[in-house]
Amino acid sequence: MLKGKIALITGGSRGIGRAIALAMAGQGADVAILYGANEQAAGETCEKITQMGRNALACRCDVSSLEQVKEAVSQVTKELGAIDILVNCAGITRDGLAMTMKESDFDAVLDTNLKGSFHTIKCCYGGFLKKKAGRIINISSVSGIMGNAGQSNYSASKAGVIGLTKSIARELAPRGICCNAIAPGFIATDMTAELGDQNALMGMIPMKRMGTPEDVAALAVFLASEGAGYITGEVIRVDGGIAI
Ligand code: NDP
Repeated sequence: MLKGKIALITGGSRGIGRAIALAMAGQGADVAILYGANEQAAGETCEKITQMGRNALACRCDVSSLEQVKEAVSQVTKELGAIDILVNCAGITRDGLAMTMKESDFDAVLDTNLKGSFHTIKCCYGGFLKKKAGRIINISSVSGIMGNAGQSNYSASKAGVIGLTKSIARELAPRGICCNAIAPGFIATDMTAELGDQNALMGMIPMKRMGTPEDVAALAVFLASEGAGYITGEVIRVDGGIAI
């Protein structure tokens, strides 16, 4: 489905980003991943991609820094070729009630989850215009749709990602470039490893199970494929029914 395409995936070292990287490589794409600090995990993702016979590149890059993103995008373009698919998956949480939440925790979450997505889009924009093609997939969250107590920073960042997605979709639609968001529910990764009461959690999920990173990756592959060429500005939940 993605033969000959070049994909750039932020947060590709672990969790959902890694699953998307592997699924896209499995469909024939060469894949670059950006990661924050976990060099070993990034190396493992790349190794799995090269084992599939695809080219892989990992760049350590803090997506909250426009300078670092600029450098990374230019390195990816030089080493793998012009980017066709951008997936914004890097994300963090710093949960707490708003009353006691530190301003620095609010800023860190907004800077990584929302501004980070803006930075990569800004740096890939010109390349997509030149190609008159491109796919942007932003990973939002059901928290950005429904809100979540204790996650005012995270929910605001993920709601922001939805606004960003719709605006970019409108800007780029005349050039045939699609921009969509995926809103996962509870997906089993490091981010959700310490969620407390499993009974309460299952009570919220109509399908009575957490999602897997592969559940999200399957949709990302479809949104990047030819068949999704008339879908833009959409927000699709992968949440087992939480936000029905
Ligand atoms: P993980 O914690 O497993 O992985 C987070 C990834 O983001 C890692 O690759 C990490 O790199 C990278 N990252 C974090 N900060 C930065 C940064 N400043 N610059 C570059 N990369 C960074 O998270 P998940 O896989 O669970 O989540 C992926 C995305 O999906 C996030 O945006 C998250 O908000 C969203 N999401 C997750 C849900 C879930 O239930 N898991 C539900 C809804 C949305 P490194 O390995 O170097 O630390």
